Amino acid sequence: MISMGTSSERVVMPGEKLGMEEEYLAELNTYTEGGNVYAAVYGSVEVDNGKVRVRGAGTEIRHIGKGMPVLGVVVSDIGRVLFVKLDGFRVGNYLYVASEDGKIVKREERGGYGRGRHMSSRQGGSEQETPCREGDVVLARVSHIENDTYVLDLHGPEMGIVYARCSECGSDMRYDEGSKALVCSACKHVEHGKISSLYGKPYMIKSFLEKELTH
Ligand SMILES: [Zn+2]
Repeated sequence: MISMGTSSERVVMPGEKLGMEEEYLAELNTYTEGGNVYAAVYGSVEVDNGKVRVRGAGTEIRHIGKGMPVLGVVVSDIGRVLFVKLDGFRVGNYLYVASEDGKIVKREERGGYGRGRHMSSRQGGSEQETPCREGDVVLARVSHIENDTYVLDLHGPEMGIVYARCSECGSDMRYDEGSKALVCSACKHVEHGKISSLYGKPYMIKSFLEKELTH
């Protein structure tokens, strides 16, 4: 057995009984069965004010919820709605997982996020504009949960596309400060959209997620 530090610390294995349900309110990494509270993971027990939880020695799983930032890939565009497959991501000892997929509802007014597929051929047109395209990796915030789908919001400088490939040739797109657009590193194709201030900066994305999720 691995030593866990102080002698007062109680280390438990998954399935180990922590107490009775009438004694404790079962919290993080615990479950109840037959009136008892059990540890769901390997880790150290924490008890306070009648609540018991297990601080995982390894990774703890947390579910993504309202108000949290998420990372995902745009997988389909069905007109007004973009579907986003949400990726789990790790921050410290926590693995954040999304139990459902996400969607972004496009804004209807003109001059919204402004990444129309038709923008290059019809400048200033009123065709439906899309903040991002299929294949883009986006950083978004869960605004609410609707019919088991996370409704995502792209407001705020950090939110938006964080990685994209060229729709013409598949090469990496780079952010161009001057034009505030994405420019293909190979063929110079230009795409507009709601681009994150963290575009192409994975370390800054990671520290942004850490800051948001560990306050
Ligand atoms: Zn290209």
